[in-house]
Amino acid sequence: MMSNPPTPAAWGIQLSQLWLECGQGLPISVREIALEVTKTRFPDDPVGIIKGHGVAGIDGMLSKRKSKGDWCISYDEAVTVPGRINFTLGHEFGHYLLHRKTREEGFQCCQAEMLDYESAESRKFESEANKFASYLLMPATDFRDQVEGQIVTLDLLGHCADRYGTSFTATALKWVELTDQAALLAVARDGFICWSYPSRRARLLRAYLPSGTPVPQSSLDRLNSAVDINRRNQGSRVHPGVWHPALEAEEFVIISDHFDMAIFLVQFPCAGMVEQAEEKDRDAFTFLENRAQGLNWTR
Ligand SMILES: [Zn+2]
Repeated sequence: MMSNPPTPAAWGIQLSQLWLECGQGLPISVREIALEVTKTRFPDDPVGIIKGHGVAGIDGMLSKRKSKGDWCISYDEAVTVPGRINFTLGHEFGHYLLHRKTREEGFQCCQAEMLDYESAESRKFESEANKFASYLLMPATDFRDQVEGQIVTLDLLGHCADRYGTSFTATALKWVELTDQAALLAVARDGFICWSYPSRRARLLRAYLPSGTPVPQSSLDRLNSAVDINRRNQGSRVHPGVWHPALEAEEFVIISDHFDMAIFLVQFPCAGMVEQAEEKDRDAFTFLENRAQGLNWTR
């Protein structure tokens, strides 16, 4: 009998490995693994059913079924963006594994906004559930194999999103979290940055844009002039002073698959010349929560 892992990431890694060791392919089906694993590991209160709930605006829910004593994961089946439902199911499965004992009333989660988390505890829960889903669905070793030695483009990240059955945003965030390159993911709405997440190397270069920073004008012009901005695969070289005071950048832009927002993926190809300093790691998936601050700001 396996013991329960100590962290959300360790939970995700353990179940991810279990899935692959059983000879199952990618993408990992949260539906199958959640039903199967909880039936044997937690027979007293397993996940008994996963189904659509028909409630618009709520991506996923975890609720206890009093009559049966088990748990129900439900999701908005009207969501058509590939990968978003699987990631939502992973998120709710994370709540089940990590939080069901502390919050028996369950969860109602909205990936698109994540605004209704007033207490620090709620933000912690949301962040942990996202982290679990990220590690469950996107095994780091496999992810590195997919991108190693390649120029990262939107097509390459799209390939990864297809491979893992995850949303584009979650996949791009995972790449930024894992990469050794200097890179930045920035999400913007109405011309302002809602949140940004720099890779470890970019953070050392202080490439970070606080919520509320205006999007560079040249980038806005590019966004607005694009005929087909969905999954544009041509990066644009931009001068120092646009995304970083001293560094040239390669900029990709797409419309977010979550809501009416633009995502900028910015890489700093010349960053190797800059001297680095040690700095504490930050966690990519707390940003899926912290961006709520940015959303508030623009409202
Ligand atoms: Zn949640």
